[in-house]
Amino acid sequence: MFMLKKSMNLGLKLINRRGIAALSALPETHQMLQKTCRDFADKELIPNAAKFDRKHLYPKEQIKKMGDLGLMALAVSEKYGGTGLDYLAYAIAMEEISRGCASCGVIMSVNNSLFTGLIEAFGNEQQKKEFIAPCTTGDEVGCFALSEPGNGSDASAASTTATLKSDHYILNGTKCWITNGYEANAAVVFATTDKGLKHKGISAFIVPKKSKGFSLGKKEDKLGIRGSSTCSLIFEDCEIPKENILGEPGYGFKIAMKVLDSGRIGIAGQALGIAQASLECAIDYSNKRMAFGKPISKMQTIQNKISEMALKVESARLLTWRAAWLKDNGQPYTKEAAMAKLAASEAATFCAHQSIQCLGGMGYVSDMPAERHYRDARITEIYEGTSEIQRLVIAGAVLKEYS
Ligand SMILES: Cc1cc2nc3c(=O)[nH]c(=O)nc-3n(C[C@H](O)[C@H](O)[C@H](O)COP(=O)(O)OP(=O)(O)OC[C@H]3O[C@@H](n4cnc5c(N)ncnc54)[C@H](O)[C@@H]3O)c2cc1C
Repeated sequence: MFMLKKSMNLGLKLINRRGIAALSALPETHQMLQKTCRDFADKELIPNAAKFDRKHLYPKEQIKKMGDLGLMALAVSEKYGGTGLDYLAYAIAMEEISRGCASCGVIMSVNNSLFTGLIEAFGNEQQKKEFIAPCTTGDEVGCFALSEPGNGSDASAASTTATLKSDHYILNGTKCWITNGYEANAAVVFATTDKGLKHKGISAFIVPKKSKGFSLGKKEDKLGIRGSSTCSLIFEDCEIPKENILGEPGYGFKIAMKVLDSGRIGIAGQALGIAQASLECAIDYSNKRMAFGKPISKMQTIQNKISEMALKVESARLLTWRAAWLKDNGQPYTKEAAMAKLAASEAATFCAHQSIQCLGGMGYVSDMPAERHYRDARITEIYEGTSEIQRLVIAGAVLKEYS
């Protein structure tokens, strides 16, 4: 199998030189990555995705193989065991993997952007050495715990507390909706060290699963992405070493917002994969299904659906690659990442809906993947900032540009 590490440097240099205009024709190395992930999805993910979904099964074997391919810490530097590629590569890989299995997509995304990527960006040398490496191989994964029962979109209202007692912090509170919560060996947890300071009192901590006073709530029974676990993390006088704080005390909210900007590029990739799978399913079926003496793909109403789907997928893909390119080149990308996530997640829900319509009755049963794509697509408009929040981010940035 093609190993992603090492061989990509030429491609990174090329894309940086050729700029955004070149993004519709990827450099050879990014094309190789795309092909590797596509072949892997065809062979390992598409044949198993329905089983993971039906049985709520964590795809352990496939995540390990993704680790072997270098996909679990794709943009983390090789120094810490990552693959050392860029965010464009990550967006491409996220799309291809999610085209095969959206659950594998979200497991990969959280581990890449919200755990290993976060620790590389904000951790000290010791934290990077200790916590990144185990999560690069697919043997272990990490998770990111910001949401609480009382706050989701309003992330600044965290009520989980962290109190400094001599050489350790004591955490109390509950985090909810945490992807990878069941399997993760460690979590990045956001807790307030000073409630009076509101968001400026929030800090980020690395909490190993084995910590005393750390337990898991029940696994959520979800509409889609059922191969990934989602659960509550409960902290009852949970004791962690003082050194496990990430960055300065009070810097946690900034860390969360910065990391979610990158995470949105990954979720845009996941949504693109679901949208692309929905489109492919619709095309394949409508070329084969006969009605009134001809394949339904010959009928203009079906062609309209195919063209609308293709248009939304390709537009969202360009926005996603553009956001990734800006990040890779050290330019501001908050607005562009929000645009990419919004466009791609709405493309995914639109395409999954239209795909079922193209399949008629066969779209409504689990013999075909269309109904799973429809269920999987829905979450992409909710997590890492709902569509309403993306619109607020975009409007805020645009109004500022014109003020
Ligand atoms: C399957 C799954 C996995 C998840 N994984 C994680 C994870 O790994 N880590 C983590 O920390 N969280 C995770 N989440 C939580 C997710 O990020 C939140 O559900 C999301 O941010 C929305 O928060 P909420 O559910 O509290 O909804 P609320 O914030 O209560 O929002 C409810 C509705 O009100 C709207 N709304 C809220 N505020 C505004 C506003 N200012 N203007 C306009 N509309 C507004 C929202 O858009 C939404 O439509 C996950 C959630 C799910 C379902």
